[in-house]
Amino acid sequence: MGINILWDRQAPEGLELPVARSITMILGRETRFVEYPLLIDGYDRNRNQHDAQKILDRLQDTVTRRYAISGPLLLVTSRDLYVGACDFVFGLARPASGVAVVSTARFGNEYYGRRPDDADLIDRTAKEGAHEIGHLLGLDHCDNPECVMFRPRTLDELDRKRKMLCPACTETPGLRGKE
Ligand SMILES: [Zn+2]
Ligand SMILES: [Zn+2]
Repeated sequence: MGINILWDRQAPEGLELPVARSITMILGRETRFVEYPLLIDGYDRNRNQHDAQKILDRLQDTVTRRYAISGPLLLVTSRDLYVGACDFVFGLARPASGVAVVSTARFGNEYYGRRPDDADLIDRTAKEGAHEIGHLLGLDHCDNPECVMFRPRTLDELDRKRKMLCPACTETPGLRGKE
C-alpha cells in the first residue's frame, strides 16, 4: 500500500522529492503526492502554534471522508505544532484514522541559530515523516536511539537517528510485504 503525502503550500518548496525518496528508502514503500484543498486548523494566537490534534481532525474529516483515498496519509506543514501539555511536537500520528502530520518548523538549522542547510532539513523531515507513517503502519516507539522509531525530544536526538528502521522494527509483522 502506497503512502500519500500532502505538502502544505507553506512548507518549504523544492524539498518534496528528496523527502519522499528518503521516506520510501526508510520504509520500503512507494510514496505519491496528493493534493486536496485543506484548511489548517487549530491556530493558537497566544502560543503562535497549531494544535496538532485539530489539524488531524480536519485532515481526517476533509480528506479521508470526502475523497476516496487509500493508504496512510502524511501532511507536511511548516506550522509549529503542540499537543496537550507538550510545548511542541515534531509530528503526530493517529493510527486509527490513518492520518499523520509532521512540521518542518523546528527542522531548519536557522531555528537554532545555525547556518541553513537543505540537506539537514530534508533528512530531518524524512526521518520524522517516516516516523509518523511508521505509527500508521503499526510501529510503536523504539528504544534504539539510532532507529527512526525512536522518539527524539531534541534536535540532537533527532540527528543521532539514522535514516532506517532497526532490525527489530523491520521485523514487525504487517510492516513489510503487504501491498
Ligand atoms: Zn512517535
Ligand atoms: Zn526500532
